[in-house]
Amino acid sequence: MSRVKIAAGNWKMHGSLEMNASLLESFTTSANTTDCEVMIFAPSLYLDQMLSLAMEMDSSVIIGAQNMSEHSGGAYTGEISGGMLVDLGCSHVLVGHSERRSIYHESNEVVAQKFATALENGLKPVLCIGETLEERQAGQTMAVVLGQIDAVANVVGYETLCEAIVAYEPVWAIGTGQTATPDQAQEVHEQIRAHLKEQAGTIADSTRLLYGGSVNESNADELFAMADIDGGLVGGASLKADSFNAIIKAAG
Ligand code: PEP
Repeated sequence: MSRVKIAAGNWKMHGSLEMNASLLESFTTSANTTDCEVMIFAPSLYLDQMLSLAMEMDSSVIIGAQNMSEHSGGAYTGEISGGMLVDLGCSHVLVGHSERRSIYHESNEVVAQKFATALENGLKPVLCIGETLEERQAGQTMAVVLGQIDAVANVVGYETLCEAIVAYEPVWAIGTGQTATPDQAQEVHEQIRAHLKEQAGTIADSTRLLYGGSVNESNADELFAMADIDGGLVGGASLKADSFNAIIKAAG
């Protein structure tokens, strides 16, 4: 089964009008000449700028949001709804990033609701899942990761979940410089796909499973060569033009 690979950058709370324009211009040159999909998840405040620039540049870079509310609208000060993202022209949104889960206490149930609300609005969610170091050391990796998947599937169904994108990001590898080895990552990806297949059938063969956690220009080739790794969700290295362009090349 051939799946189009993805090079996705998560800019977290980084960027400026000037920096965004310069990085997008650079990534557009790579994205417009590759076979993979290139995505940038930018801070909400800059989505309008990024979407307008992408249009002006005739860029194939997909611009997505890093978070959205589980509610459709109402008295939720400071929140951003799925409808607002679509209004701007956004097509993709991260849900359940580990920083949202740990710092902002988003439970599996809240993440599942965000996922469902994203779909209701016509957005493609990228579901982030992953275990902490303590959970890995306690042998709970698959229980945690599959539990995070099942919480979403219980709300939207496995077949619908299979049409989204899943990013396996071991928490101990995010922003630490400590990448999972290609074999470690593949082992988890393979089991995630097997679980999805068991629940939803062959549709799981086309689900894109991304790896995230200190992906950089030196390890991307090896990671993306693994059978069940369909690209990467990249934090730090997506803020450096040369590094992310090399990652796009590795995915292309
Ligand atoms: C992330 O933010 O999803 C991430 C994987 O970050 P980093 O690549 O910096 O580890």
